[in-house]
Amino acid sequence: MEKNTLFYVILVILVVQYLVHQYLEYLNAKRFKSTLPPELADIYDENEYRKSQQYKQTNYRFGVISDGFSLVLTICFLLFGGFEWVDQLTRSFTDEPIPMALIFFGIIMLGSSILGLPFSYYRTFVIEEQYGFNKTTKSIFVSDKLKGGILTIVLGGGILTLFMLFYQSTGPNFWMYAWAMVAGVILFINLFYSRLIVPLFNKQTPLQDGSLKSSIENYAQKVGFELQNIFVIDGSKRSTKANAYFSGFGKEKRITLFDTLINDLSEDEIVAVLAHEVGHYKKKHIIVNLIVSLLTTGLTLFILSLFINHPEISLAIGVSTPSFHAALVGFALLYSPISEITGLIMNYLSRKFEFQADDFAKTTFEATPLVSSLKKLSKKSLSNLTPHPAYVFVHYSHPPLVERIRNLKA
Ligand SMILES: [Zn+2]
Repeated sequence: MEKNTLFYVILVILVVQYLVHQYLEYLNAKRFKSTLPPELADIYDENEYRKSQQYKQTNYRFGVISDGFSLVLTICFLLFGGFEWVDQLTRSFTDEPIPMALIFFGIIMLGSSILGLPFSYYRTFVIEEQYGFNKTTKSIFVSDKLKGGILTIVLGGGILTLFMLFYQSTGPNFWMYAWAMVAGVILFINLFYSRLIVPLFNKQTPLQDGSLKSSIENYAQKVGFELQNIFVIDGSKRSTKANAYFSGFGKEKRITLFDTLINDLSEDEIVAVLAHEVGHYKKKHIIVNLIVSLLTTGLTLFILSLFINHPEISLAIGVSTPSFHAALVGFALLYSPISEITGLIMNYLSRKFEFQADDFAKTTFEATPLVSSLKKLSKKSLSNLTPHPAYVFVHYSHPPLVERIRNLKA
C-alpha cells in the first residue's frame, strides 16, 4: 500500500501528543508527595493524606497503561491498514455515501468501545471500588453503556446524515449549513439537557420544602435571581463523589444538586456552592461559553470545508479510495493539535470564570462556607492538592484548591 506524507504526519502527531501528555503526567506525579501549603493542612489527617497519595498514584499508573495501549492500538491500526480493511468491509454492504459513512463510523465506534470496555470496567469496579467511591452496580454499568451507545447512534448518526446531505446539496458552502445545524443542536441540548437527557440516566426530584429550600430561595431573591427549578439528582447510585451544576437558560434554567452534596455539606455550605453557580449565570459565563464553543465549531467546520475535497486527506489514513468518511477521520487526526490549542484557551477562560464565580459568592453571600465546602469536597474525592502548574495549565478547568482559597480569603 502506498503511504503519503500526511500518513507520517499523523503518526508523528499521535506520538508527540502522547509524549507531551505523559511528560505532564510525570511532572504532576513527581509532586504527589510534596508537603501541603498551610491553607490546606487541615484537610486530610495523616492516614487520609496517604490514601489520597495512593489514589493519585493508582490513577497515574492506570493512565500510563491505558493511554499507551490506545496509542499502540491506533498506530498498529494505521500501519497494518485497519482503516482500509473497514472501508472495504463497508463497501461490501453498499456504495451509497451516506449509508457507507454510517456503517464505517459504526464499525469504528463499536470496535473502540469494545476495546475500551475492560478499562472502563477496571476503573469503576477496581480503582473506584478500592477507594470506596464506587456505588455503581454491574447492571447500572451495563445499562449506562447501552443507553450511552444508543444515544451516540441516534444523535451522532442523525448529525452525520444531515451533515452529508448538506455537503451533497450545497458543495463548498456546506460548512455554513452544518454550522447552523450544530449550533441548533448545541442550543437545544443546553436548553433541554436536564429535561431530556439526564432522565435517561438519573432520577431528579424537586428539592423538598424546608429550611434548605427557603435559605436557597432567600439568597436567590436577594441577588435578583429568578429560580423556579431546584432539583436533587440521585448521584449516590453511582458514586459517593458530590457535585452541583447549572443548566439551561431563560425559563429552562435550573440548579441541580447531587443528593451526596446535600448529605455531606451544611446548609450554609450548600447555599455558598449555589451562590457560586448563580455567579456563573450572573457574570454571563454560560452565554460566553456557548458563544466561544459556537465560534470554535464554526472555525473547525470552515477549515474542514477547505480540505474535505482533497483526496490526500482520505489517503492519509491508509485507505485506497478517497471518500467523505475517510476524509473526516483524516481531518480529525490532522486537526487534533489545533483542537488541543483551543482546549487550552477554553480551560484558561474557565479558570478565570471560576475565580469570578467565587468572587460573586464571596460578595453576595460569604467566603467562609464556600472555603469549607471546597475543602470537604476535595477531601471526599481525594483530590490532588499539589498539582504541577504545567499540568494545571493544560488540563484544569478549575483553579487548584489552594489558589481558590487564597482568592476567597483575600
Ligand atoms: Zn464553577
